[in-house]
Amino acid sequence: MIRDLELAFIKIHILYHADTEAVFGVGLMEELARHGYEISPGTLYPILAKLESGGFLTCETRTVAHKQRKYYRITPEGRKLLNRMREKIKALYQEVIDQ
Ligand SMILES: [Zn+2]
Repeated sequence: MIRDLELAFIKIHILYHADTEAVFGVGLMEELARHGYEISPGTLYPILAKLESGGFLTCETRTVAHKQRKYYRITPEGRKLLNRMREKIKALYQEVIDQ
């Protein structure tokens, strides 16, 4: 159960960072680890693919140090979703934390 809940937080986290800058898999794994979320490539890449196929992220392949790397940015649809989640996070925070 904790994993289900964490996965939702992880998706919101990805959208947030993809709104701020272009993000890539390894960088996201490091950022998420910094927040205490352990996520394997086998979990992260399907999430990125799903967010992309759902139209919430766009993907661009760039070559960095002779390696192909996929960079993701948020789409207008993704930003809409992120803003809806911001409202829900705010309401949840007020109820669960702020009391
Ligand atoms: Zn973060």
